[in-house]
Amino acid sequence: MSAPRPAGRRPTAQRAREEEGRRRQLIEVTIDSLAEVGYVGSTLAQIAGRAGLSAGLVAHYFGDKEGLLEATFRALARRVATRMQSRAKLARSARGRIQAIVDAHLAPEEFEKRTASAWLSLWGQVPHTPGLKRIQSAYQRRMLTNLRHALRALLRAEEAGPLAAMIAAMIDGVWLRAALSDWREADSVAARALLARFIEQRLAEGGAAPSRAARAATPARAPVRVSTATLTTINPATGERIAELPIADAAAIDRAVARARSAQRDWASLPGAARARVLRRAADLLRGRNLELARLETRDTGKPIQETSVVDVASGADCFEYFAAVAATLAGDHVDLGRDAFGYTRREPLGVTAGIGAWNYPLQIACWKAAPALACGNAMIFKPAELTPLTACELERILIEAGLPEGVFQVVHGHADTGRLLTGHPQIRKISLTGEVGTGQAVMADSAATLKHITLELGGKSPLIVFDDARLDNAVSGALLGNFYSAGEVCSNGTRVFVHRRVRAQFIERLATRVRAMRIGDPLDPATQVGALISEAHLEKVLGYIARGEAEGARRVVGGGRVTTGELASGYFVAPTVFEACQDEMSIVREEIFGPVMAVLEFEDEEEVIERANATDFGLAAGVFTEDLTRAHRVIARLEAGTCWINHYNVTPVELPFGGVKLSGLGRENGRAALEHYSQWKSVYVALAKIDAPY
Ligand code: NDP
Repeated sequence: MSAPRPAGRRPTAQRAREEEGRRRQLIEVTIDSLAEVGYVGSTLAQIAGRAGLSAGLVAHYFGDKEGLLEATFRALARRVATRMQSRAKLARSARGRIQAIVDAHLAPEEFEKRTASAWLSLWGQVPHTPGLKRIQSAYQRRMLTNLRHALRALLRAEEAGPLAAMIAAMIDGVWLRAALSDWREADSVAARALLARFIEQRLAEGGAAPSRAARAATPARAPVRVSTATLTTINPATGERIAELPIADAAAIDRAVARARSAQRDWASLPGAARARVLRRAADLLRGRNLELARLETRDTGKPIQETSVVDVASGADCFEYFAAVAATLAGDHVDLGRDAFGYTRREPLGVTAGIGAWNYPLQIACWKAAPALACGNAMIFKPAELTPLTACELERILIEAGLPEGVFQVVHGHADTGRLLTGHPQIRKISLTGEVGTGQAVMADSAATLKHITLELGGKSPLIVFDDARLDNAVSGALLGNFYSAGEVCSNGTRVFVHRRVRAQFIERLATRVRAMRIGDPLDPATQVGALISEAHLEKVLGYIARGEAEGARRVVGGGRVTTGELASGYFVAPTVFEACQDEMSIVREEIFGPVMAVLEFEDEEEVIERANATDFGLAAGVFTEDLTRAHRVIARLEAGTCWINHYNVTPVELPFGGVKLSGLGRENGRAALEHYSQWKSVYVALAKIDAPY
């Protein structure tokens, strides 16, 4: 509860926050305006009109048009700089830092029509406007200095400078090409891959000669090894550094694969029941260490202990228990082929598999991939997300303690580069990725050369439909679980909440009351319900979407900003936010935000809502709330989603397969369906009679 205060007087901090929110909103509107009508058309009056404010109020915040456009340019440049800094901070290898700079400039959020059109219209004015010129020079200097600095660890100074300039020119070049092709050539993944290939080639040609400083620090003739680099993990609720871990380079991956290959043969030759005993013991050990592991997960991810102590570890343990039972029952078929022959099938492991995890459910993701892989007799090399590497290491220890032969499950650390070493490795037979759509596309492309099996668990923007006969409190509970659990960092979240016109007002009222009562705080405090977002860059992305939501005309009902009270100021906390009056074409309705932002939309009839729910490239999940079960099944059958709920949301029992359709992924985790993705069939024909050959 907040303390009473005199009517009409708002505390300075709150006023400052509101003003900051308004400034952000106006900057987002300006970006829209620049993208649509360009620099000349973006007048103060035009922007004020779009924002539904008076031109005087806009002038109060920014002075004149130049002031507003400079602030917009500065905000765009700062966004890239923040993203670059946080990526580079985590990328401890020089090559990783170079890629971080490239990735930050060509991230999907930047490399899309709206943002890039705004950049281009501002760039066009740089030669004529001293304020813009200053911002542009600082932006260019920053990119070049960072590139040069990272390259100096790999090349001689006289080579680092020109290559930095070439990379910077290529980054600007792909933007221009995309813009001049009317965005037909705009593809963030392809652009980053192009730059990555170019950099690899130039580094190989340059011989990756060590700098003088690096040469002095390295014994004679020893190559500069990326494996000496480390990554640092921080607690996103406090900024505290938790651990430093070595990054696996190509040689380390080769060693891991060789160990896995030799260990896998013995593991696969055990009877299923023997493998089952190890998996079952692992489940028991996970449960026995629930609180300790939950605390570690909470520190690494910023998620409340209230969640990690009942979901993250427990669902991992359930998965090992389930696949232990499955391992003991694996079997092929006997096929009767008449008197002279019979056939049988053997379900065989794939060999060495690799798992690549996202940062939102690190331990659960590691378990969901490891348990079916090991049950089928495979080995697995697992790379957790660079931001959350800790609990996967504990899982490796637990599996060894449970009796898994060393080498059958190994954890390697690193960034996307390490992921690429796995996807490109010729002796790895399968990749299972949990991550963004763009990463899924890159992994699929990189796996093509070695024709790997792949499972892709990717992003979503799922619909949750509330009909007018639904039990409203139940539906509100579902919407809360489907939007604010783990601060909204859940792939299957039902972030498009379609509510029937007749119950919309009531739904919003009950929802808002419950959201306002949610406790945001120290994730290690058992009373906390909403913890921190994963990183500063992610926080900026989520706040950017909130500002865009307001700019596009959605009405914010509750939440809407960063929470910085007391000690929370050093973490990345955002208040759970609900928007109503949302329209299907708004960016907060179309794009995955992966944060605590719910969009409520109104609908009138069943046919209409099904069509709108399916009007997305994603297809991970969907939910329907209604007391009419005939309608529930009819609607669910027509929704394009891999994982659905009737009168609930986001429950994922291990017995049910989990996964998406369309751009949300390929393959399934959990349930017996997962076996199809970790094993292959061998058919054996057995002759019982003399061979009748015509020769
Ligand atoms: P990313 O796609 O950024 O990263 C996922 C993993 O892939 C990380 O380990 C990452 O390494 C690695 N990686 C990145 N690029 C490559 C590459 N080119 N080759 C190989 N590996 C690569 O996802 P996030 O970690 O940001 O997770 C959030 C996303 O995951 C959201 O879109 C969310 O919807 C989705 N997700 C999907 C789930 C599902 O089951 N469908 C469940 C949970 C999340 P690094 O950490 O170094 O970047």
